Amino acid sequence: MAAKSGEMDYAVAEYALVGCHECDLLFRKPQLQPGQKACCPRCGALLFQRKRSGLDQCLALAFTSLMLFVLANVYPLLRMNIGGRVQEGALITGIEELYSQGYWEISALVFVVTFLAPLCKLLCLFYVLLPLRLFGRRAPKAVLVFRWTALLSPWAMTEVFMLGILVAVVKLADLASLSPGIALYSFAALMVSMAAGDAALDEHEVWDQLEPSVD
Ligand SMILES: [Zn+2]
Repeated sequence: MAAKSGEMDYAVAEYALVGCHECDLLFRKPQLQPGQKACCPRCGALLFQRKRSGLDQCLALAFTSLMLFVLANVYPLLRMNIGGRVQEGALITGIEELYSQGYWEISALVFVVTFLAPLCKLLCLFYVLLPLRLFGRRAPKAVLVFRWTALLSPWAMTEVFMLGILVAVVKLADLASLSPGIALYSFAALMVSMAAGDAALDEHEVWDQLEPSVD
């Protein structure tokens, strides 16, 4: 059934049926208050949970992540002292170095998963959540942008990159004297902040608020 007007959209949402992801039991979508959760009456699986903080916690963590992202890209990542020769490396210089050595595929992959995807994901989140939180209305094409946010999530691999840095640090420790830069601490904090942001994001609530006027 196609909904033509705004009123019809509300009606469809009100009577929409949802299925339990564990036992496929169908039931009418519950309207939850902040802090409430809904469990399947047959198997007990957690179906919906409304966070008490609403979108505030997620937005606060997204702001924190953006600030840490800037710090992680502006300041040096590592300072190496090899036989008296001091060298500093930033995130972007590592990508440039890979490119200049002919590893353009790896350089492009590192650029996408450590820079482009996390930045786009954060900007998409702001674009969708800020108008909802501040004005109670959705931005143009917010539904599409929120879908992109979900698509970008698997590509924002800050934790994999952090693991790579730690492996490199352990291997280089015998060859050079290493001291971590501000960017390394920022990147580690960014990893935690983005994971916490993912956990704080109440996708059901965002979809509920976007639902009345789907693009
Ligand atoms: Zn169930």
